[in-house]
Amino acid sequence: MAMKPLIAANWKMNKDIKEAVSFINKFKNLIKNIKNTEIVICAPFTSLSEIKKLIKTTNIKLGAQNMHFEEKGAFTGEISGLMLKDIVEYVILGHSERRQIFHETDDLINKKIESALKNKLKPILCIGETLQQRNNNKTMKIIKNQLKGCLKNVSNDEMKNIVVAYEPVWAIGTGKNATPEQAEEVHKFIRELLSKMYNETISKNTRIIYGGSMKPNNARELLSMPNINGGLVGGASLDAKSFGEICNT
Ligand code: PEP
Repeated sequence: MAMKPLIAANWKMNKDIKEAVSFINKFKNLIKNIKNTEIVICAPFTSLSEIKKLIKTTNIKLGAQNMHFEEKGAFTGEISGLMLKDIVEYVILGHSERRQIFHETDDLINKKIESALKNKLKPILCIGETLQQRNNNKTMKIIKNQLKGCLKNVSNDEMKNIVVAYEPVWAIGTGKNATPEQAEEVHKFIRELLSKMYNETISKNTRIIYGGSMKPNNARELLSMPNINGGLVGGASLDAKSFGEICNT
C-alpha cells in the first residue's frame, strides 16, 4: 500500500505526568530517523499538555483516548472535542473497553465521530468482535454493523481523516494476537465494505490498522499483510524500547 502507515500507542489509564515525560524523552531518540511511518501517542488527558511541549521538534504526534460528543455544558467529568482540538491531532473512539465497560453504542460513537470531525480531529475508530461472536461465525456481521453505525453520515471528504482500527476483542490485552491471516481477512472485508459505502479511491486510501496484542515479535508479520496499514498498540506501547521496536519494524 502506498499510504503512510500509522502506529499508535494506546496508553489507556497508565502513566502519571512524570512517567509520560520520561517515556517521551527516551522514545523520541529511538524513533528519530523514522520518516515513512506516522507515530501517535494516545495518552491520558492529564499528560497531553506536557507531552505536547516535548514533541514539538520530533516526528511524534499526539492523540486522546476518548471525548464527549457535546462541545460544552453540564457534563461533569467529560472532555470535549472543542477542548482537545488545540492539543491533539487524533482521538481514539469506540475502543472495546469503552463499549464494554462504559456501554458505548455505535450510535453514541457516531455522535462522537461527528463532533471530532467538526473540530478537525482525526478519529481512530475501533471495531471488532468478541470471541463468542467469532465462534458463532458472526465476525463479519458485527464488523459491518459497527462500521456502518459508527460512520453514519460521514461524508466522502471527511473519510480522509478517519483511521479504522480492527481490534478483535479477544486479542486485546490477552497476549493472543490474531494471526496475520485472520487479521488480513477482516481488513480486506473492511476495505471492501468501504468501497461499497463510499468508493474505490476512499477505500484504497483509508488506513486500516490492527490492534490486539501487537508486540515487537509479531509486528513484522502482521504489518506485512497487504491490507494492514499500521497498528494500535496497548500493553507493548508502555515501554519505550518495545514500542520503539514496533515503530521501527
Ligand atoms: C488496545 O487496547 O487498543 C490494544 C490493542 O491493547 P493490547 O495491545 O494490549 O492488546
